[in-house]
Amino acid sequence: MNILVINSGSSSLKYQLIDMPNETVKASGLIERIGAENAKITYKKGDFKTSKELLIKNHEEALNQMNGFLMDEEFGVISNKDDIKIVGHRVVHGGKTFSDTVEITEEIKSKIESLCALAPLHNPPNLKGIEVSERVFSKAKQVAVFDTAFLQSLPQKAYQYAIPKSFLEDEDIRAYGFHGTSHKYVSEKAQEFLNSKNQPSSKLISIHLGNGCSMTAIKDGKAIDHSMGFGPANGLIMGTRAGDIDQSVIFYLIDKLGYSAEKVNTILLKESGMLGLTGSNDLRDIQQKAEAGNEDCQLALEMNAYRIKKYIGAYAVALNGLDAIIFTAGIGENSALMREIVCQDMDVLGLQIDDSKNQMSSNESRDISKTISDTKILVIPTNEELEIAKQAYKLH
Ligand code: ADP
Repeated sequence: MNILVINSGSSSLKYQLIDMPNETVKASGLIERIGAENAKITYKKGDFKTSKELLIKNHEEALNQMNGFLMDEEFGVISNKDDIKIVGHRVVHGGKTFSDTVEITEEIKSKIESLCALAPLHNPPNLKGIEVSERVFSKAKQVAVFDTAFLQSLPQKAYQYAIPKSFLEDEDIRAYGFHGTSHKYVSEKAQEFLNSKNQPSSKLISIHLGNGCSMTAIKDGKAIDHSMGFGPANGLIMGTRAGDIDQSVIFYLIDKLGYSAEKVNTILLKESGMLGLTGSNDLRDIQQKAEAGNEDCQLALEMNAYRIKKYIGAYAVALNGLDAIIFTAGIGENSALMREIVCQDMDVLGLQIDDSKNQMSSNESRDISKTISDTKILVIPTNEELEIAKQAYKLH
């Protein structure tokens, strides 16, 4: 069955056509700069890649252009758009309403709309993608997969903030978390991987390190704690986000230094993190400069790893034990250096990294811990699109 997975942003749209249940990616691509004269659509089928620049006025035109590629006589993969049976949409925020994947109805759309205030940059373009897809793929079932859904199992002691409880009761102010689709995917892969080797898998920590970074403690397949919060700012040091910070700094910037609240928000989300510490948010640059002796870059890597270590410690306690940690996403999958410094001096938790296994690059799930390591260290490539397709397929 052909399932089209769509991740619709305000001016971009990522797509993948996946054949389920055999999990084969038939084609994938990206449409950028929607609304501009020089919009660009890229299309990939196996090793074949092509792209086109043109005016794409809106998201509906973007999907029609995508269909042109998918149905191309020479390199297309379907002959009719009705060959697409399900469209799976990534929706960033499901609030407390959605703890699972749902088929989209008018009622579901209005619920997603009511959650726009919680994710003003993401939910509106996600919703637009849904509405346009309903018109373009009128015969397909439309399904929403929420980034927050996997994290809805957090117990109240983990998600509630210690502020007057009326804020939770009246305004739903609490931690929700993000990257849930990725954490679910890699933790299930880790369970399969460990079970196939007769190793325990009930206490896991997944570490998603991309431009955005987050960690989840997972017990018996359920998320029990997570590092992001009400918005995507809390927790780890990220590409451009500060992560955990004392709120006193915010008020000092506003009250004493005269910054506007909006400017402070921009500083914390877009000018901080690795960028603020080193001038770059690309970990490859930072690693190179650190190796060449740049002290700011060396310190930033140490700070970044130290924050991750502290969360590993906290979550090992929350789980009352630890079977494995999982590294994933751009940095987690590719940076042997970051994995090495995170795992250094962690024998207190039974973590012992094997240097040569850590240095080997691969696109496969792998164990990079020493054979004698009590706690396993896994690298598992994430695949949010496939997770969306899997969940959508369950509703077919
Ligand atoms: P996003 O959150 O945008 O999906 P990614 O998961 O693609 O981000 O991760 C982007 C990060 O991964 C960047 O900081 C990039 O420098 C880092 N990265 C990608 N490849 C490597 C590599 N080979 N070594 C170190 N870092 C890498």
